Amino acid sequence: MSGKRQPAGELRAADAGRKVLLKGWVGRRRDLGELIFLTVRDRSGMVQVLFDKARCPQEAVDRAAEARSEDVVAIEGEVALRGEGQRRTDTATGDIEVVASRLDFLARSETPPFVIEDRTNATEELRLEYRYLDLRRPGMQKNIRLRDEIAFRIRRTLHERGFLEVETPMLTRSTPEGARDFLVPSRQHPTLFYALPQSPQIFKQLLMVSGFEKYFQIARCFRDEDLRADRQYEFTQVDLEISFPTEDDVFEAVEAFLAEAYAAVGVQASRPFPRLTYAESIDRYGTDRPDIRFELPLCDVSSSFIGSGFAPIDGALAAGGAVRGLRVPGGAAFSRKKLDEWAEEAKKHGAPALLWAKLSGGEISSPAKKNLAAGVLEKALAEAKVAEGDLFLAVAASREASAAALGVLRIAAGRELKLIDESRWAFVWVTDFPLVGRDDTTGAWYPMNHPFTSPRDEDLHMLETDPGRVRARAYDVVLNGWELGSGSIRIHRADIQERVFRLLGISPEEGRHRFGFLLDAFRYGAPPHGGIALGLDRICALAAGTTSIRDVIAFPKTTSGLDLMMKAPSDVMPGQLRELGISPIKP
Ligand code: ASP
Repeated sequence: MSGKRQPAGELRAADAGRKVLLKGWVGRRRDLGELIFLTVRDRSGMVQVLFDKARCPQEAVDRAAEARSEDVVAIEGEVALRGEGQRRTDTATGDIEVVASRLDFLARSETPPFVIEDRTNATEELRLEYRYLDLRRPGMQKNIRLRDEIAFRIRRTLHERGFLEVETPMLTRSTPEGARDFLVPSRQHPTLFYALPQSPQIFKQLLMVSGFEKYFQIARCFRDEDLRADRQYEFTQVDLEISFPTEDDVFEAVEAFLAEAYAAVGVQASRPFPRLTYAESIDRYGTDRPDIRFELPLCDVSSSFIGSGFAPIDGALAAGGAVRGLRVPGGAAFSRKKLDEWAEEAKKHGAPALLWAKLSGGEISSPAKKNLAAGVLEKALAEAKVAEGDLFLAVAASREASAAALGVLRIAAGRELKLIDESRWAFVWVTDFPLVGRDDTTGAWYPMNHPFTSPRDEDLHMLETDPGRVRARAYDVVLNGWELGSGSIRIHRADIQERVFRLLGISPEEGRHRFGFLLDAFRYGAPPHGGIALGLDRICALAAGTTSIRDVIAFPKTTSGLDLMMKAPSDVMPGQLRELGISPIKP
């Protein structure tokens, strides 16, 4: 069969009467005796094909009778309008069908392990084992195409703004994102290892030293961390860096490409994105990934609980903690069971206990009432502006834990009360992160982002004396409660870098050993610079309306890091190991 191939999914009523050649996969077959219907699917969609014994050559009818799902066929026929009662509105080609005159098999298919349709009851394991079949499903086709469209729009937007896409090495040495490295043994240099990059961080900073001024890359990053639905060992970042920037320059570039990216799914991002400082975000939303599609703010009711007479609360306050509260409008109607569930949830996020009180019929009911000095609860409810019919939740703990626990309950309450407007796309910048956090057990300071993040000038004087209070020129961009990316203005002065290394317990020798080339580069005139990296997988997942990044990655791994299709990781030939001078130790 020759001629120009017709995309199956593009046929419409206006094509009636046209002779067409289809090439694609057989979907369903219905054999009604005199009539045989096949659906034919290709990348563009699908169309119904009719083999009518009264009109169609016998050979084609016989082949149609034999055709099975996933056979690859070439079909010649003529487009015809369907009869009035036969039209369908659930597929784009529902007004027409192709009346076939010929069918050739280009390849036959065995019975696939699951039906190639969006509605499948195949487990995810089976889908991943046969990923090439899973990817044939229309929903997956759509996701992968959306990913291509988004990546293209991002590239175009950045290119138009003068960013250069520069590739950086995959075989490199440990980079500073703080996760475990994937190591690659060197055959030529036995006992030495490359590391796969956790990000192009150091390279992009060096490109600024080299004078490129605006860099970006859609870059693969590798981190050996426990996997979850939104995490993979290897993932893709939209990575960028700018010389002589202000935060606004970084924000402008990111807002521009995110707006373009989400326009691919019809979202109109309103710009500029709102901004919150880290402190505001924690105080108001309990998290640095605020979902601002709804309000329901947390409040600090510590002052109402001073001298509460209840040891756990007084203890938390004495230790510098806080009592944070959340007013849930209309929540007095929530069941005891719901509140027990929420108390469990709060515990998982570091709250020793959840205090709750209901205001109903002018009465406060709360299991905590008996433990508290007279008037405490009344004062707290008044401070939180709790009204008739409301529920009041509170957590007394460290400032971090009280925020984290109530932040989670804020989301739960928002869902319960249906306050979240799912049609909204709420982007927000969170700025001024603390430069460092402190490890509870060792007391050591660790970088909140990475060791090259610049402290704010006005906080520099506290670097040695009160490092926990030093704010960084670091920012995250968040969408609907999901962190899309983070970045910072960097340190470009050797003396400040040294002070930060010292704070992080990185000795001058270690600093030289790990990042010597960067420190050296900074001795030759490094421009002020800063940038950001966003997770492309997550950007695409949210655009596709899924919470699992596996749905937008062609060949992802399972949560235990397995590639079920390629069967990786795998053993290797003993000769390969010998060449590398490696002998595995069985754990
Ligand atoms: N390299 C950083 C990261 O992967 C992002 C950045 O600071 O630009 O988180």
